[in-house]
Amino acid sequence: MGLQLAVVLERGIGSAQLRVEDDDDDGDGDSEEDKSYYEHYKPKSTANDQPSAALVIDGKLIADEIRFRIAEQVRRMKGSVGKVPGLAVILVGDRRDSLTYVRNKVKACEDAGIKSLVTQFPQNCKQDDVIHALSTFNEDPSIHGILVQLPLPQHLNEEKILNELKLEKDVDGFHPLNMGNLAMRGREPLFIPCTPKGCIELLIRSGVEIMGKNAVVIGRSNIVGLPTSLLLQRHHATVTIVHALTKNPEQITREADIVVTAAGVPNLVRGNWLKPGAVVIDVGTFPVEDPSCENGYRLIGDVCYEEASKVASAITPVPGGVGPMTIAMLLSNTLDSAKRAYDFT
Ligand code: NAD
Repeated sequence: MGLQLAVVLERGIGSAQLRVEDDDDDGDGDSEEDKSYYEHYKPKSTANDQPSAALVIDGKLIADEIRFRIAEQVRRMKGSVGKVPGLAVILVGDRRDSLTYVRNKVKACEDAGIKSLVTQFPQNCKQDDVIHALSTFNEDPSIHGILVQLPLPQHLNEEKILNELKLEKDVDGFHPLNMGNLAMRGREPLFIPCTPKGCIELLIRSGVEIMGKNAVVIGRSNIVGLPTSLLLQRHHATVTIVHALTKNPEQITREADIVVTAAGVPNLVRGNWLKPGAVVIDVGTFPVEDPSCENGYRLIGDVCYEEASKVASAITPVPGGVGPMTIAMLLSNTLDSAKRAYDFT
């Protein structure tokens, strides 16, 4: 299957249009197989099925496409060098959200043919035990990526633990050297943090031009806001960072062609914070009680979706926007690491 879906944003008329690009050599993108693929994966109208002016950037669709390609490459690697990529996860405690994230990551590895190992420690474990597990994975040649599921319990020194992680296996991209190389012109980090990388992929694969645009990033955390602002600069956007102490955040955000928000504050970004036609990427995830949902809660983002989708030209839903991309980028970083280790292209 060689079909690619590309979303073309038609600025000026304030609407967006879906283009189906056909690279499967049949020339027209019109085969029965292509049609059923398109029907299956075409973006839903909105999170709550209300009519909306904005195109919904379907992160699940884009992530599925990326994961499909990764699985293909893993099969090729296995056939050619007899090895598969390996990911190790260190989990401390039994936070419900962390357990869910780790379970999803392990399942995604399985689907892609990537080996995964999870070492779980009790909440009150010793720091030395965590560091020892990390060192073992550092030395294991079948492991190409290691991630420490954050946050760690208070009594553990996160900085000290993360510093033990071998740079070549830092698939989360949080090592200061990876982050420093991301920030410096002419330098290449070994890994780019997964969520920021996923946000940029969403923009690029949705046909959004970044170069020369005004971008506002809301949030400046080490894991999302900061690396996202660095990445947008790498793509030649003019970047402004808004954080909890910023004065007039709505006024600044209203100047943006692209808004990436990662504050963790539900409904922070209202419709009147946005310039008409802006593209909005909502990283925020916040659980709110909802007895009608299977788990008793549902996730909402930083953006007041109902208002924003009437002003923006394109917007990511929560859930189903950035979340699936974070996992796809983790698989992608793990595959890249294994490719480097086996000199496989
Ligand atoms: P964090 O708490 O470390 O950082 C939040 C940032 O937002 C800070 O820089 C803070 O200054 C800023 N901020 C807080 N309140 C603000 C306000 N009122 N106005 C402007 N800025 C404000 O959080 P984080 O780890 O960066 O995560 C941010 C959000 O993204 C959370 O909801 C988190 O759950 C979510 N997240 C989602 C994914 C995903 O894959 N979808 C991945 C990581 C984080």
